[in-house]
Amino acid sequence: MQKLEEVKINAYLSPHPLDDDSFLEEEWISWLPGYIKGETEDGLPSYLSDSNIALYVRIENFTVDLFKSALSRMWPLLKEYHYKSLNISIDYSNYKMSSSLAGYQYKYSNPGKGIYFFSVDQKLLSYYSAFIDKKVSSLPEMNLWEHELMHAIDHWNILKASSLAHSNIPLNNLQYYFIKYREEGIANLLDLMDGKINGINSRTKAKEVLANNYAKIKMELSTLEKTDDKIRSEIYSGYDFYEVGPWIMLDLVNEIFSLTDDVSIMEVERKIANGEENSEELKFEIIRHAFLFDTDMFLSRLDNYCEA
Ligand SMILES: [Zn+2]
Repeated sequence: MQKLEEVKINAYLSPHPLDDDSFLEEEWISWLPGYIKGETEDGLPSYLSDSNIALYVRIENFTVDLFKSALSRMWPLLKEYHYKSLNISIDYSNYKMSSSLAGYQYKYSNPGKGIYFFSVDQKLLSYYSAFIDKKVSSLPEMNLWEHELMHAIDHWNILKASSLAHSNIPLNNLQYYFIKYREEGIANLLDLMDGKINGINSRTKAKEVLANNYAKIKMELSTLEKTDDKIRSEIYSGYDFYEVGPWIMLDLVNEIFSLTDDVSIMEVERKIANGEENSEELKFEIIRHAFLFDTDMFLSRLDNYCEA
């Protein structure tokens, strides 16, 4: 079994300013706090100056350190897998045009070879760089990298569901809409048990919101013969997947635990609602069981939650 210290983590600005093919323009990168504009003494473009190069290294190292601490916390779960390299591209020019903070790049990753790709999106980089430059004193509180690492473990389910997500057949999109509660629910389960999810504070409430949302989306989709990118991205947007999903996963895990006396999900739920701590060991035991609900099994429970 691989040791945590042996896992290779690379974080790099992308495109890298020192790369000849980057065709970099100063404006793309000069927004970084601490970046020094203007030619160097030797007449080189600013992005090649020693102080700016040192800034890139600080950002890259900072990213690696944060990623590593998530990896270390998740190791009880992650150690069963093989890693050749974990790669994090830092999108300072907003090439991805992403509105999120970070991502797992399932299209580029290859779990069979142990190669995984992640991204720091521009929005997150602006937090990181402001923090490094001491302009702000804290970072977003969520378990960002733990969340993306859960997606990485979930790779094959995500890949499988992506065809439903991109299909132009409304029924496929409706299925994916439901599946998204699983995908983000698993990824956010640690946040839920860490007490970092606001808004919804019980399984009952989560089930109610899910049933209503599903009925609404089902109705909307039933009027369409085909869907397009715009319609689909509207359907899949919003925060409910992140807030409702983990409660649904907790509810499903209860199916397993209610057969034994080992763990009381009711007690776990009570503690979350009251802001009390559940043990770290228990959290990972629950997450491990949540992964038993793969996409097919999750879909088979649709009737338990929504009017199909
Ligand atoms: Zn996610």
